[in-house]
Amino acid sequence: MDATASPPVAPEYNVTGIDFADRSHFRYTGPPLIDFHAHVMQTRPTDPANGPPPGTGPGASTDQAALMLEVGREFGVTHTLSMCFPDDIPPLRARLGSALSFNGSIQKKSISDPDEEAYRLLERFLELGVKVIKFWAAPRGRERGLFVDAPWRIEAARRARAAGVGIIMVHVGDPDLWFQGMYADAAKYGTKSEQYTGFERMLQLFPDMTWIGAHMGGDPEHPDHLQALLERYPYLSFDTSATKWQVREVPAHRDAIRALVCRFPERFLFGTDLVTRHNLVRDHYVSRYWCQRTLWESDWEGPSPIADPDYKPEPGGSATPYLRGLGLPAEVLRKVYHDNAARLLGVPVTASM
Ligand SMILES: [Zn+2]
Repeated sequence: MDATASPPVAPEYNVTGIDFADRSHFRYTGPPLIDFHAHVMQTRPTDPANGPPPGTGPGASTDQAALMLEVGREFGVTHTLSMCFPDDIPPLRARLGSALSFNGSIQKKSISDPDEEAYRLLERFLELGVKVIKFWAAPRGRERGLFVDAPWRIEAARRARAAGVGIIMVHVGDPDLWFQGMYADAAKYGTKSEQYTGFERMLQLFPDMTWIGAHMGGDPEHPDHLQALLERYPYLSFDTSATKWQVREVPAHRDAIRALVCRFPERFLFGTDLVTRHNLVRDHYVSRYWCQRTLWESDWEGPSPIADPDYKPEPGGSATPYLRGLGLPAEVLRKVYHDNAARLLGVPVTASM
């Protein structure tokens, strides 16, 4: 044996060596899935290995976007709502056409940027025909002034509404575990519950819009909180995206989340949060689609195949969270996977899979 050889490192997308080709536990047979939360972008050889690509640089390619959507089709996903830079929209449309709709993220690069920057960005997205706008307001964006209810976001929501955009997606909150770690400084980041003050203010200011709380409203750890929000705001829905987070927390609150989705089947939307990156292999995309479908529709149980740096294994337990499928009823799945998103995006209803 070669003593200098290091042991093979399992890839992040399959640390348990699972056979992703085994999909015999999938139950869903309804109309094709719509991914309501993904980041299908052009990628470049100069992109950082982690973190979002900057959206500029030489060698822009739509190959990863095409690969991701090809893998998606294998899992029954025929339409994806993508967040990407405005410059990415024309080339993605040229290659992938009706498989994509677009969600424009309204941001400012720095806190000193004039509000006009955000309005110019909104104008570009509106010219490009986005169907949704997004306010990213994670705690780590506070230093950059990215509050969900910042005055320039209120104005952007007004302008989007006047231009006919009726849907706003919001990222508030982050995993509870992060508030014990990177967000422990509550004076700087706010507590987790404080994240929702601005969000509720926006919900009250714009009751005539459809609001989407990304990543299970940012609070899969507290289904009772999600239920209270759904009851208080009938025009609010949640997407199921951020696969590692949901695979860790949804099975940990399986019965409560299952009951919640079954009680409000019109208010949940399938999403992955997949991001195209320049050098990703096919199985990275496979792993997220596989886990999302396994989680919602099956009764499969076992350690998640995806590495999760936030997960603290129990002594003697598995290295990754224990994925336990919710086995949602067929009529609920049809709404979560297809009908709700088709209605919101105006995607034609297509034949069953
Ligand atoms: Zn996302």
